[in-house]
Amino acid sequence: MALYGGIEGGGTKFVCAVGTGPGDLREIRFPTTSPEETIARAVTFFRQVREPIVAIGIASFGPIDPNPTSPTFGYVTTTPKPGWANTDFAGEVHRALGVPVGFDTDVNVAALGEYRWGAAQGLDTFIYLTVGTGLGGGGMVNGRLIHGMMHPEMGHIRIPHDWQADPYPGACPYHGDCLEGLTCGPAIEGRWGQPGETLPPDHPAWELEAHYLALGLVNFILPLSPQRIIMGGGVMAQAHLFPRIRARVRQLLNGYVKTPQITEEIEEYIVPPALGNRSGVLGAIALAEMVAKGQMPGVGA
Ligand code: ZN
Repeated sequence: MALYGGIEGGGTKFVCAVGTGPGDLREIRFPTTSPEETIARAVTFFRQVREPIVAIGIASFGPIDPNPTSPTFGYVTTTPKPGWANTDFAGEVHRALGVPVGFDTDVNVAALGEYRWGAAQGLDTFIYLTVGTGLGGGGMVNGRLIHGMMHPEMGHIRIPHDWQADPYPGACPYHGDCLEGLTCGPAIEGRWGQPGETLPPDHPAWELEAHYLALGLVNFILPLSPQRIIMGGGVMAQAHLFPRIRARVRQLLNGYVKTPQITEEIEEYIVPPALGNRSGVLGAIALAEMVAKGQMPGVGA
């Protein structure tokens, strides 16, 4: 049987898997070190698989070049992560394994995983956000993963910041108090002096967190009109954030959007990923399958 390979390449850890879907994945995980060492480790994992692997899908941290007509398609481009800027990630994997390699952002690929097997099945316009060490967003519009000029960078939108209520300047090295800068895990720790995991559910940190995240969501809901918003990542493991965010989104929209998703079924509109923390690696498998079938471009396809 033909298998697909998936790589979820994160800034701190790599997950590599082979299989065909949620029921049969074999996977390993290891820390992200230098590009040479980390990519070699992934390649070694795939070489040890006995069955033929017909294509690889990569979900990469970024920024990346996802444009198949660009000479740097498949590269991690301008990342601040030491050693990784201008790394030909997909090209290295393609040359080592001799199979076509699909390549997209970690969040676009996680969105694809949720589209194929999870909370976005049957939808054509939705977004997937992860709130953790940073805030990333991807998704589909009209059935296509969002690309355009580069790829979405939803974490870096600007939202209102009341400096009197919250004097914390923000954690983003580029913007300070952008959405990511105000809501990511390091921002919670920077503002309150202790990591989010150690703050109880009734701590004021969480109302503020929900307020900022809801401001971000309404700024995605209004221009994109997503049919669903999926929110994952370490910060969203605090399940009590969901009802707070939903209530705040309704408040901020203030009756203007009167779809059933907002007025009646918001519990099914702003949701955690159905695939848990496996959206990325499963999306990479789905991407590999699409590249193998000629439904998506890939390096060497
Ligand atoms: Zn920013």
